[in-house]
Amino acid sequence: MSDHDESPRDTDGDIDDTPTVTCSRCGRTWDLAYELDELQVGNQALEQFALDHRRHTGHFPDGVTPWVTECRACPAGDRFLSERPARRWAETHARHTSHTVALRPPFDEREERVEPAGE
Ligand SMILES: [Zn+2]
Ligand SMILES: [Zn+2]
Repeated sequence: MSDHDESPRDTDGDIDDTPTVTCSRCGRTWDLAYELDELQVGNQALEQFALDHRRHTGHFPDGVTPWVTECRACPAGDRFLSERPARRWAETHARHTSHTVALRPPFDEREERVEPAGE
């Protein structure tokens, strides 16, 4: 039932389904073809890009809201794209330093306090 079959793979200049990322701090837009084609990271392309961008520039691109960990007792803190590494950071920091760490999910005001275990 497809009388509208226009072989999807032979027009190379016409890729409008490649996701793009914008960074207003850099004033640039990238498409994620490199992440998709070279790194083969599939639907984690945006995440991979965001992590790489931060590694090299110190900030996340637009549209990426990280999990934030913030120590209440010292200047330590970091940002993560998912809960698991953020929580792990908070728990290990609390464990090693006996500091209380605030763990803040994206799009959420309420923050969780990760307390050092056993006192
Ligand atoms: Zn940037
Ligand atoms: Zn600390």
